Amino acid sequence: MSSDARKPLISGNWKMHLNHFEAIQLVQKLNYLVTKEDFDAVDVSLHPPFTDIRSVQTLIEADELRFLLGAQHCHFEEKGAFTGEVAPSMLAKLSVKYVIVGHSERREIFGETDEMVANKTTSILKAAMTPIVCVGETLEEREAGSTESKVIGQVRSALAKRAPDTVSKLVIAYEPIWAIGTGRTATAADAQAVCGAIRGEVRASHGNEAARALRIQYGGSVKAGNIAELMAQPDIDGALVGGASLDPDEFARIVKYRLHAA
Ligand code: PEP
Repeated sequence: MSSDARKPLISGNWKMHLNHFEAIQLVQKLNYLVTKEDFDAVDVSLHPPFTDIRSVQTLIEADELRFLLGAQHCHFEEKGAFTGEVAPSMLAKLSVKYVIVGHSERREIFGETDEMVANKTTSILKAAMTPIVCVGETLEEREAGSTESKVIGQVRSALAKRAPDTVSKLVIAYEPIWAIGTGRTATAADAQAVCGAIRGEVRASHGNEAARALRIQYGGSVKAGNIAELMAQPDIDGALVGGASLDPDEFARIVKYRLHAA
């Protein structure tokens, strides 16, 4: 079970799905299913596409909903000639709290490097939002036995030169790339082994307090049927959920994992 000091964070990454009308419907359905007790136990962030964020923000604020608004991506620069990009401060102005950085789809399809991920992490923190920094290995890397070196390398790059009290506010999402959108999930024991190694790395680099406070999510085909076992692991403090977050019934059951314990 997660340490009491770390409130679990379940995040729904809608990717490039749902227009703003559909987004509003999903949030309304979810709000009907997720109770005050659920929100007391778990933080829930929703990460719609950019075009939906303002609509979801308005709904959250007007109805005083407890969902936390998230984004899937941003640029690291504050302004400039970057056609199609969005600055961190623009998201902060919309009351966005969490921004996903370095999702494997951004790294693999759009060529985001560790350096870009580190720069974005800095800019998101500067705009007073929380980065959810994604790390993870490919199937080839796993089969070659290099999971830990890949993941720890990505963690080191994202955390280098940051103060311990900054690191303690971050979220790291361990997402084995071969498990994203494939229906394949790392076993709870395998996911714990990598999440434990991440926390061990943070303990070594930034000290006990940062390691204790940092939240680590698992992502990769999380469903209502496997969330409880994953959340029972000592170093897993939440989940980054893609496909299953588009189905309000399934996502609400994920949020309520504590009611159907492993
Ligand atoms: C994700 O989008 O980060 C993800 C883990 O997707 P899925 O849950 O569909 O595997």
